Amino acid sequence: MKKALLSWYDRARRRLPWREKTSPYRTWVSEIMLQQTTVAAVAPRFEKFFAAFPHIKALAAAPEEKVLRAWAGLGYYSRARNLKKAAQKIMAEHGGRFPSDFDSVLDLPGIGRYTAGAILSIAFGKPYPVVDGNVMRVFARLFGISEDVKNAATQKEMWSLAEKFIHPRRPGDWNQALMELGATVCLPDSPDCGLCPVSRDCVAFKMGLQDELPVMPARRAFVDLKWACLWIEKDGKVLLWKRSPSERFLKDHWGLPEARHLKTKPGKLLRAERHTITHHKIGIALHEAQAPKTLPPEAVWVPRKRLDEFLVSSLWLKCAREHLGAVRASA
Ligand code: SF4
Repeated sequence: MKKALLSWYDRARRRLPWREKTSPYRTWVSEIMLQQTTVAAVAPRFEKFFAAFPHIKALAAAPEEKVLRAWAGLGYYSRARNLKKAAQKIMAEHGGRFPSDFDSVLDLPGIGRYTAGAILSIAFGKPYPVVDGNVMRVFARLFGISEDVKNAATQKEMWSLAEKFIHPRRPGDWNQALMELGATVCLPDSPDCGLCPVSRDCVAFKMGLQDELPVMPARRAFVDLKWACLWIEKDGKVLLWKRSPSERFLKDHWGLPEARHLKTKPGKLLRAERHTITHHKIGIALHEAQAPKTLPPEAVWVPRKRLDEFLVSSLWLKCAREHLGAVRASA
């Protein structure tokens, strides 16, 4: 099975920017970017990130706003903040070199067991396993695991299997081959078993259980939220709001003020937008408004032409960019 899967990987793997040239820094950044984000979204942003921060020292020294801007479009911005914090820790505690022992890697902000295993196996050739969503699906079908894949006991079983089967000489390629199989052949719906290099060993294939496995927990229902946001403009400047770390969404981000932030009445409705964060569907109503007489310290006037420097999240770009376009068009 191992030989067949690795030969297939050597032949059929996708050429992706982070696979063409590897280093611990590149593998680390690619793994963080790929968490909860598609390859298609990461690929065009990957090299741009390295152009902005060519080495760990540059990332550690960069202003947080610059790191967040380079992250724009990838979402889940806490990952970008953790990257910067981890880079600072690497500078302070490891002399600027990415650590190569499991405990030190796991000790870095934003890195869990999966990411530590991925970096150590791919960039350092160490035999640490990985289990992500793709590996779970492949294992559930390959070994005929019929328990809910999110159960603690099933997770434990998956990690044991990953440890047991890791390739001792090519652990990085082995881990990537498993993930690649899940991403391109053993797909959630209609796996392409005719092309699969491990079909001879696959329990689900032999028993016709591909559609029953893996057993997934019930999906979380979507939650609808409503935000009333304010467009307050005066003398070519727009009022922005620094969101607090205790906000439920977009913590510590610059954004447009919401009606609940300011003592001012929402005026004319300018536009309505929809945006999804995890399982929350946010309906945004953007209203024109007047600035209150006194402004709290979180509110800052920003020249309209500099809004791009502050509004990073696609939620705000959706609201503000289109509004700017509309205003310009009617000017
Ligand atoms: S044979 Fe089919 S179900 Fe089994 S691992 Fe391959 S693609 Fe997945």
